[in-house]
Amino acid sequence: MLPPVLYMVIPCYNEQEVLPVTSGMFLNKLQELVKKGRISDDSRVLFVDDGSRDDTWKIITGLSRQDPHFQGISQSRNRGHQNAVLAGLMEARDRCDITISIDCDGQDDINAMDAMVDAYLDGCDIVYGVRSSRETDTAFKRITAEGFYKFMNRMGAEVVFNHADYRLMSARALKEFARFKEVNLFLRGMVPLVGFKSTSVYYERHERLAGKSHYPLKKMIALAFDGITSLSVKPIRLITMFGLLISFLSFIGIIWALVTAFTGKAVAGWASTACIVCFIGGIQCLFLGVIGEYVGKIYLEVKARPRYIIAGRTEEMEKAPDQKKD
Ligand code: UDP
Ligand code: MG
Repeated sequence: MLPPVLYMVIPCYNEQEVLPVTSGMFLNKLQELVKKGRISDDSRVLFVDDGSRDDTWKIITGLSRQDPHFQGISQSRNRGHQNAVLAGLMEARDRCDITISIDCDGQDDINAMDAMVDAYLDGCDIVYGVRSSRETDTAFKRITAEGFYKFMNRMGAEVVFNHADYRLMSARALKEFARFKEVNLFLRGMVPLVGFKSTSVYYERHERLAGKSHYPLKKMIALAFDGITSLSVKPIRLITMFGLLISFLSFIGIIWALVTAFTGKAVAGWASTACIVCFIGGIQCLFLGVIGEYVGKIYLEVKARPRYIIAGRTEEMEKAPDQKKD
């Protein structure tokens, strides 16, 4: 059997500081795997420029001229990490047997790729890269990130604990994944739904080699919320349960009110009325907001706008993919 063709899919947004450092690491890893006979020499490092405003795309095209193992595509504008990864995976899937998506900042240990490729050769279609510890993250990032996974799971969005977007996917898994047409992307929650044999590979997460994070707390909360509302209707169900509870309590409240009225003990109950009105008002606004979030998602899905638009490709990526993989 010929060794598989691997495409490393690497999203980059304003990464001119870190790319010159990490691009060489990716290439070395690729060549090491080729030398070991694990992957084919037709394998590529595929950068996805996510509409960067700095020199990222210039660096990528420069790299592809230096070494044909480097290839790149650029998005027409910044669309966010998830869409960039998807664009790369979809571009790569007809050209390769396996993809590994990884961030470009060197935080994910590239040495885990050996074990990922081995797991693929052993018959797995999806291999999750899982962080074994978060010692290099700040305590704040660690607590918020771990809380993120726990909260997501509790809300019914099943995600692999401590797995971000460092994963291997086979062309077969990607072909099925391409049928997931949703525009609200939360890849780490969607990929497990594809099924097939999967496993996890553990690695230590490092510090960013240069540049700064694009995921401050605000974006993490947004991502968690997106993840939950894209994958699960549990919040709506919880609201329904809460509604039932409130209705039940209200029913008791009505009986209590009637009893006090009939026994002539009714006093000007301004406080209790006001409390109930405020409480119900607040709860209703909150719940309408959650339901509105789902309605908004439906709105976006119905419009079915393209999930990515590619503006430029390096030379080899311009050529039609070899169709033999279908
Ligand atoms: N990224 C992207 N588009 C964006 C934001 C980030 O393609 O709008 C890329 C970024 O270049 C990096 C990866 O997504 O390769 C993860 O981003 P970052 O390292 O900033 O996040 P963190 O690791 O701090 O969660
Ligand atoms: Mg990072």
